[in-house]
Amino acid sequence: MAKLDEKIEEMYQEVLKRNPGETEFHQAVLEVLESLGPVVVKHPEYLERKIIERICEPERQIIFRVPWQNDKGKVQINRGFRVEFSSALGPYKGGLRFHPSVYLGIIKFLGFEQIFKNSLTGLPIGGGKGGSDFDPKGKTDDEVMRFCQSFMTELHRHLGEHTDVPAGDIGVGGREIGYMFGQYKRITNRYEPGVLTGKGLTWGGSLVRTEATGYGATFFVNEMLKARKDSFADKTCLVSGSGNVAIYTIEKIHQLGGKCIACSDSNGVILHEKGLDLDLIKQLKEVERRRISDYVAIHKEAKYIPNGNIWDIPCQVAMPSATQNEINGKDAANLVKNGCIAVGEGANMPTTPEGVKVFLDAKIAYGPGKAANAGGVATSALEMQQNAGRDSWTFEYTEKKLEDIMINIHRNCYETAEEYGAPGNYVLGANICGFIKVANAMVAHGLI
Ligand code: NDP
Repeated sequence: MAKLDEKIEEMYQEVLKRNPGETEFHQAVLEVLESLGPVVVKHPEYLERKIIERICEPERQIIFRVPWQNDKGKVQINRGFRVEFSSALGPYKGGLRFHPSVYLGIIKFLGFEQIFKNSLTGLPIGGGKGGSDFDPKGKTDDEVMRFCQSFMTELHRHLGEHTDVPAGDIGVGGREIGYMFGQYKRITNRYEPGVLTGKGLTWGGSLVRTEATGYGATFFVNEMLKARKDSFADKTCLVSGSGNVAIYTIEKIHQLGGKCIACSDSNGVILHEKGLDLDLIKQLKEVERRRISDYVAIHKEAKYIPNGNIWDIPCQVAMPSATQNEINGKDAANLVKNGCIAVGEGANMPTTPEGVKVFLDAKIAYGPGKAANAGGVATSALEMQQNAGRDSWTFEYTEKKLEDIMINIHRNCYETAEEYGAPGNYVLGANICGFIKVANAMVAHGLI
């Protein structure tokens, strides 16, 4: 762990004291604070106005009961969350996660990261995040619908196109957004597409939103490779997960000339040395909602490794796209030892602090999630623009906008890292660049 500036250390201790037990939130805060020492030296006004202390305290946190009935008529109770972290740059914006591991500490880590990520996109969006400990796995469509309706029955009163605009995340895709949008419309009697993003294409959605996070992360890695006079051509790649982000990361890697040989889920790893068959993965995951273990029934030469560790497989590019803390210090050391030259995080905070240190010390190209996976939320903001203008853009036009945004984010992080004397350190670049814009807006808005 880098040594914190003395004043910043005090702030971090206060965060620990005020938010006991929220370990993922502590980790996300520390990772940003470690970068801010040189910033407060240049900008003493941030200290005077307690900008850092204020940023670490969400503007509003909503926790609510979500009662629903399963197909057998049995009453179920889940817990719902929405953390509206910062509206300094625009309405709260960030996804909803449905996963049994969800609790306040996870939603706060995600919401905190979202503030800086959204700032990096250059678009007018604040930071927020929400979700529930509901597990959509193994539930019928009707059960998911009843849950989503109950969830939205409470959440709707906190949302609005100028207030708070959720999207998807783990366990929340097009199906869930559809049920939530339907319930919002019914309760409010308003057809308000700007209230949720990730909508279906015939009812206010944007082309490229489904692909955006994976495509964007791959564009970001492509820029890191270009900065090192390299490219994706013939690179062997690993992508963890097999959900939305993983699928479209694999697709863009293949389009850019790389070869992705492995992906995973929480049960195991698929290794296919000749290159993954993405059409089959899409069929299994997006159409039939099955597990990736079924992949080997079609491709006999591929291997399914139950409980395997994908990071043990040698590669040149690794793109973690499943969940937080999936790469620990040992995994990171393994990746570097096996010849990995670039890591781009499609997932949020997938690398532990020990792992991050390994990547930074090895000076490989390491793109942290808040920069590399910002393409998802950026395209959500493009969806909001289309909704506001009652317009819909072509795939090519929207994808080009996404690519330009990712190129810009890369350049800003790269140049900020150089300006602060840490060339090639995208962690520092992303944290400082994301923070300064939010901090300046907070100074301008006064003490609120
Ligand atoms: P999905 O629900 O579509 O897919 C998640 C994938 O990750 C699944 O393959 C899942 O496997 C795996 N996974 C989830 N939790 C675990 C776990 N605890 N251990 C191992 N594997 C796990 O989610 P997304 O693809 O949307 O999200 C993936 C990551 O990307 C998350 O970190 C999310 O925050 C981040 N992200 C997503 C954005 C988006 O636009 N969707 C935007 C920016 C970041 P299984 O089916 O077995 O659970």
